[in-house]
Amino acid sequence: MTNDVDVVVVGGGPVGLAAAIEARLAGLTVVVVEPRVGAIDKACGEGLMPGALPLLARLGIDPPGMPLRGVRYTNGHRHADHLFRTGIGRGVRRTALHEALASRARELGAERAVGRVEHFDHDATGVTVNGIRAGWLFGADGLHSTVRRLARLERTVSGRRRFGLRRHFEVEPWSDLIEVHWARRAEVYVTPVSPRLVGLAVLGARGSRFEETIAAIPALAARLDGARPASTVLGAGPFRQQAIRPSRGRVLLVGDASGYVDAITGEGLRLGFDEASIAVETVLSGDPAGYDNAWTRSTRDFRVLTNGLVRAAMSPLRVGIVPLAAALPGVYGSVVERLAR
Ligand SMILES: Cc1cc2nc3c(=O)[nH]c(=O)nc-3n(C[C@H](O)[C@H](O)[C@H](O)COP(=O)(O)OP(=O)(O)OC[C@H]3O[C@@H](n4cnc5c(N)ncnc54)[C@H](O)[C@@H]3O)c2cc1C
Repeated sequence: MTNDVDVVVVGGGPVGLAAAIEARLAGLTVVVVEPRVGAIDKACGEGLMPGALPLLARLGIDPPGMPLRGVRYTNGHRHADHLFRTGIGRGVRRTALHEALASRARELGAERAVGRVEHFDHDATGVTVNGIRAGWLFGADGLHSTVRRLARLERTVSGRRRFGLRRHFEVEPWSDLIEVHWARRAEVYVTPVSPRLVGLAVLGARGSRFEETIAAIPALAARLDGARPASTVLGAGPFRQQAIRPSRGRVLLVGDASGYVDAITGEGLRLGFDEASIAVETVLSGDPAGYDNAWTRSTRDFRVLTNGLVRAAMSPLRVGIVPLAAALPGVYGSVVERLAR
């Protein structure tokens, strides 16, 4: 059977689009299957770590946003600041990131098919999905990936689950650090995304409420006093999702679909862009077996550090996190740097 295209990407979020761009830059033909049209919004802290920007620049993308010079952990009494040593990050509204990626993908000739994938057939030479025959399938369909389930790669996750909520406010940014407010039960990430817009993401257990969480943090409530909400509250989760492994034959999982730990380290996008590039390298090499090892190497630090921080955040040690970061700036700084690369 002849292939219509080299690669079909299921999911046109940021990682799926980055994978399509990578594929076109490598001279491969590609179709992205995505049910939603227009600039896609999603619950996200919208912080691009310094390491994400060179990955995007390589794809020819320089999205508009606000510079992020480091990270501040605060509990209202103490704080710990770390300024990135490896460059600066950027706060970018998800819709702006999506538009930049989608327009670059179009410009490079990536095709688009509107639709949701609910079934595919997979054999030794390729994949047939929504009437398209492709040599490879990239599953980039997010946290609750259908491709992961259909490829029998889903792993059941147990334990307490965490969720995220986000909303924007029209207010002049007051800091160029990503502020992380450690409240009693949730963390609130504050990220400037334009000269008049700040995004807030609340991460916590099921049932965390956006307004109540902000109201319980006096310094944050004062900053937002009178500020007009500029978006609705969007939610996502549960965060923790696992795949048995990130590929089966010619089906490669990329981005959140390949497994996710937590948004606590603000890492998903950089990691997903890296995985997109590894997936295309795998196609070029023609050896599906190489993907799992490369994926494991690329995501190891994220998985280890994020798992450790989440465990501490969900334990009685939680109250000690900000004081410890303030008391041990070298350790705090090296963890942030490790994740910012
Ligand atoms: C509250 C919160 C805060 C976060 N903060 C940050 C941060 O500050 N920095 C950072 O880097 N990361 C952050 N993340 C993580 C980041 O949002 C994700 O890692 C990123 O969105 C992953 O992109 P993706 O393209 O893999 O998946 P998604 O963005 O979820 O895109 C998946 C796409 O697949 C489509 N799709 C789904 N099912 C199907 C189907 N069956 N067929 C076809 N298409 C389908 C969807 O419509 C969607 O467009 C945060 C996440 C949350 C929840």
